Amino acid sequence: MTAATFRHPSALAPLVEAWEGIAGVLERVGGAVIDLLIRLWLAKVFFVWGVLHASNWDATLQLYAGAGAAPGLGAQIAAVLGTGIELICPLFLVVGLATRVAAIPLLLLAIAVEFTDRTMANHLYWIAFLGILIVRGAGALSVDALIAPHLAGSAIPLGASLRKIAAFKHRYLLPPFELIVRIGIAWLLWSRGFSDSPATLQIVGLILCVLFALGLATRAVALILAILSVTVFFHSAPLGDLVLRLLLFLSFVLYGAGPFSLDQAIWVRLQQLCPSVFGDRDWLANAPHVVIVGAGFGGLAATMSLRHAWANVTLIDKCNYHLFQPLLYQVATATLSPADIAQPIRGLLREQQNCRVLMGEVTGVDGAQREVLIGDLRIPFDYLVLATGARQSYFGHDDWAALAPSLKKVEDATTIRSRILAAFERAEACPDEAERRRLMTFVLVGAGPTGVELAGAIAELAHQSLTGDFRTIDPATARVLLVQAGPVVLPAMPKALSLAATESLTKLGVEVLTNARVEAVDAGGVQIGDKRVEAGTVIWTAGVMASEASAWIKAEHDHAGRIIVGPDLAVADMTNVFSLGDTSSCKGADGKPLPGLGAVAKQQGEYIGRLIRARIEGRSSPGSFRYVDYGTMATIGRKSAVADLSFVELSGSIAWWLWGLVHVAFLVDVRSRVAVVFDWFWSYLTYNRSVRLITGGEGRPD
Ligand SMILES: Cc1cc2nc3c(=O)[nH]c(=O)nc-3n(C[C@H](O)[C@H](O)[C@H](O)COP(=O)(O)OP(=O)(O)OC[C@H]3O[C@@H](n4cnc5c(N)ncnc54)[C@H](O)[C@@H]3O)c2cc1C
Repeated sequence: MTAATFRHPSALAPLVEAWEGIAGVLERVGGAVIDLLIRLWLAKVFFVWGVLHASNWDATLQLYAGAGAAPGLGAQIAAVLGTGIELICPLFLVVGLATRVAAIPLLLLAIAVEFTDRTMANHLYWIAFLGILIVRGAGALSVDALIAPHLAGSAIPLGASLRKIAAFKHRYLLPPFELIVRIGIAWLLWSRGFSDSPATLQIVGLILCVLFALGLATRAVALILAILSVTVFFHSAPLGDLVLRLLLFLSFVLYGAGPFSLDQAIWVRLQQLCPSVFGDRDWLANAPHVVIVGAGFGGLAATMSLRHAWANVTLIDKCNYHLFQPLLYQVATATLSPADIAQPIRGLLREQQNCRVLMGEVTGVDGAQREVLIGDLRIPFDYLVLATGARQSYFGHDDWAALAPSLKKVEDATTIRSRILAAFERAEACPDEAERRRLMTFVLVGAGPTGVELAGAIAELAHQSLTGDFRTIDPATARVLLVQAGPVVLPAMPKALSLAATESLTKLGVEVLTNARVEAVDAGGVQIGDKRVEAGTVIWTAGVMASEASAWIKAEHDHAGRIIVGPDLAVADMTNVFSLGDTSSCKGADGKPLPGLGAVAKQQGEYIGRLIRARIEGRSSPGSFRYVDYGTMATIGRKSAVADLSFVELSGSIAWWLWGLVHVAFLVDVRSRVAVVFDWFWSYLTYNRSVRLITGGEGRPD
């Protein structure tokens, strides 16, 4: 690929993409809230009317008799029907269940009131809102939104047909309806809001009304109208009217004008005229090919930071999900389920048009041909990023792996969870006291962050969550041993925090053995120095080894197999091949290799994305990679943690809250954040672990 064939993306592309992102968030988050508020407000209005009508039945009968009941209905039946609708349908609106169906009788009632009772502006707003509800649906915060995706395949009668009707309405009825509503509101505003104003305001009002009706700069115009509606023109109107108008305009601010508008016509035309700005796929036809292997913290960050680049990005991972490893120990100890911390890669990158995701295990790299190998499949690259992470190291005792599982993958976490839970089940059924003691002894080898967090969580599970569940054994008597070859736990942290962590662990009932080396692991337990410990469950949390990526490219590596990279994270003698995260060794500002942390991998991924993009666009590269250290943390149980922030050291509950906030914020999607917070909240309040499942053959009692 020569520089002449590169087509630089317009500088406007990031702006357009940023706007699309903002509009998307406005629509998804703000739109969901506004839809809910509109439903609640309408429900309130009709329900209050219903209560008033029901509580004063004579007046209601007179009202219906005076207004002229619906054709063929007497005043009595019309009053019962009308009041019934007012009392029942709002309940469906509140929860957003069968919203479209519930809105139809309310719409008919609003129309009847408008044409038989005193004509009022707010009746017309009700009609507009209910019409929008019927064609657009209840919005994201509703029961309808929860069940709609499953309707077609469900046993609900006519489920598939209902779904088709809703899709038809959304596609064919919503656009013209939005147009009618815009014109109707513009007319209402002009005739009942602006026409009585001073001359200058009349001109401004006329311009705003015309723009709104045409759907030009709709979001901005609707925002101005929303502000005016609660300040200048309608300050004397009743509160109910103000709220109605405000909600209506805000709904246009968030959703825009819809397809039948000048905004949309201009947008489509711009896309045709400037494909480079709007990311037309054909425009990427001759773009350089960037292959990223590994969708962990680093690989995903690199991929995402290339989203505006003129590049065809292929992200390859052997799993179809991105895993948030820092919370794996909570899966292993039954607080979270795997789906809370693992998200499908395709879903995360759905919006990134220049990226394709391939699931496959890379087996090698053909450097001469510039191809990545997935078995027989060859993927060509112009730039290659190796981000394949690390695996556990048993320091030359790989045979211990089956006896002492480590914690690196989802499968490891569910295996450990099954083994821990099954140990208690076996102990409950075991007649022999010594064997019961052995089964209820848990040994963790290695007191880095994973060992410390896991030990605290197992102690809490045994000593608090499981108490009362068994009849023969007392889980509170379980032994949890944390074995550390060195003199302190968390050796990478300042001494004061190591001591604080030891103290917290001891309070939870963990036996911390320092300066103790595990010499052997067998089916019955472990040999620690000259001491034998009988243990039913041994978990390996010591030492990691880089993936085999260095062998693929025959690159220089350190004792842990990590590829040695330069200050720009490129592999020596291969300027178009980069490596990052746990699989690489990069020196920090102090000249020492950077630690294997998610934050390091993420920052490196973002840097490599920027660097590759600059190279593609022929710009000067960003300087050398510099890691910004925001600190490290480890949690011990449900209320204590240690945090070494570069400017302060924290321990105890403050550190725990900080740890929780940071980990929730770093989860990659909203669903996971909500699920994790809910599960934590539940287990915090109840001590209960919601995911106490023994799955797979591994941990099931024989
Ligand atoms: C239990 C645990 C707790 C941790 N806690 C913390 C913490 O609290 N804070 C912190 O900062 N860090 C923590 N870490 C470390 C952090 O998770 C890693 O440093 C980080 O994940 C490294 O990111 P990475 O992108 O280099 O590799 P990873 O995130 O490991 O991603 C590597 C990816 O490559 C894929 N892959 C591997 N081989 C192949 C192949 N041959 N073909 C295709 N795909 C492949 C894998 O499937 C994986 O998706 C923890 C790690 C563990 C295991």
